[in-house]
Amino acid sequence: MAGGILVIAEHLDGKVAPSTLELIAAATSLRVERHGVRLVVFGHGVKELADHLAGYTVDVLVAEHPLLAEYTGDAYVQAVRGIVESTNPRLVLIAHTAQGYDLAPALAGAMDLPVLTNCLAIDLQEGRLVAARRILNEKVHVEVEVRSDRPIVVTMRPGATPPQGTGRGTMSVTEVPVSIDPAAVRVKFVRMERPEVADIDLSSADVIVSAGRGIQKKENLRLVEEFAKAIGGVVGASRPLTDLEWLPKTRQVGQSGKTVRPKLYVACGISGAMQHIAGMKDAGLILAINTDPTAPIFEVAHVGFVANVLELLPAVLKELKAG
Ligand SMILES: Cc1cc2nc3c(=O)[nH]c(=O)nc-3n(C[C@H](O)[C@H](O)[C@H](O)COP(=O)(O)OP(=O)(O)OC[C@H]3O[C@@H](n4cnc5c(N)ncnc54)[C@H](O)[C@@H]3O)c2cc1C
Repeated sequence: MAGGILVIAEHLDGKVAPSTLELIAAATSLRVERHGVRLVVFGHGVKELADHLAGYTVDVLVAEHPLLAEYTGDAYVQAVRGIVESTNPRLVLIAHTAQGYDLAPALAGAMDLPVLTNCLAIDLQEGRLVAARRILNEKVHVEVEVRSDRPIVVTMRPGATPPQGTGRGTMSVTEVPVSIDPAAVRVKFVRMERPEVADIDLSSADVIVSAGRGIQKKENLRLVEEFAKAIGGVVGASRPLTDLEWLPKTRQVGQSGKTVRPKLYVACGISGAMQHIAGMKDAGLILAINTDPTAPIFEVAHVGFVANVLELLPAVLKELKAG
């Protein structure tokens, strides 16, 4: 059963990670000829999750083992390796998450496979893989190609691809044997620490109003929050605001924050540093408000307002309330 694309699913508490649905969409868009796309769910007691995932128009393999109950690189590399060896796919797709960027290089190293990380888009052309990536602190967009007779390990940046929706039919679910040598598992999972208050998930918001240093004072966040609420959105931020702890880190958009793709993104007093733009440039419609007409944010904005955000937002809010 060689060929095709193997997608590694990621899940927590019985719920599939949104990045997994993005990987399925990226994989199915490649229209590989032999054996298509197979999604592997590793874990312990994950059969129900596997059945659920088969509804996303993808054949599912389930690999269960007590040592896969929680993620550890040592156990997962052994398990994934076994499946890569038996299925010999052209690509192994993994999300570029904390788990994925631990697993992918370890797998590639263990099997001596080529690896491409943090890809934004991939394409298979005449036997070669072409991947779009950003390098040098996101400044340079590059296309890289890999030709290999062996499987290529690829990690895809979360948020870079629209997620797969459920299909009309349910595909097959096949249990596959897993063999793990407990003596080779050097890392032990100890505990999961969760944030006390669950914050909103920016990456799934349709409308985001982000505040930057141009709002000047923490008290002015109230204005941005009021505006976001009035247009059915949530509040994001540039990094200086989360560094100042005016908003939690979960609200940071950009290279070291979230990659978002809302239908509407309003940048309020944000200069448009490349590290910020990296996280929001794929929004459907970008509105930017900035007093400086030369601010780089205007280069990616579809609509720009050279205006004081502390005057423009109250004026718009007044109009919205009146109308
Ligand atoms: C490794 C690395 C990772 C990084 N990751 C991120 C990241 O994930 N996300 C991120 O955002 N940044 C990130 N940064 C920081 C980034 O380089 C910028 O410093 C940051 O994005 C700037 O934030 P800002 O636009 O809010 O502030 P500034 O650059 O200070 O811009 C403020 C803007 O507000 C305008 N302004 C001022 N007053 C007003 C007003 N009254 N009304 C309207 N406009 C006004 C100004 O003209 C200016 O353009 C990273 C940097 C590094 C080195």
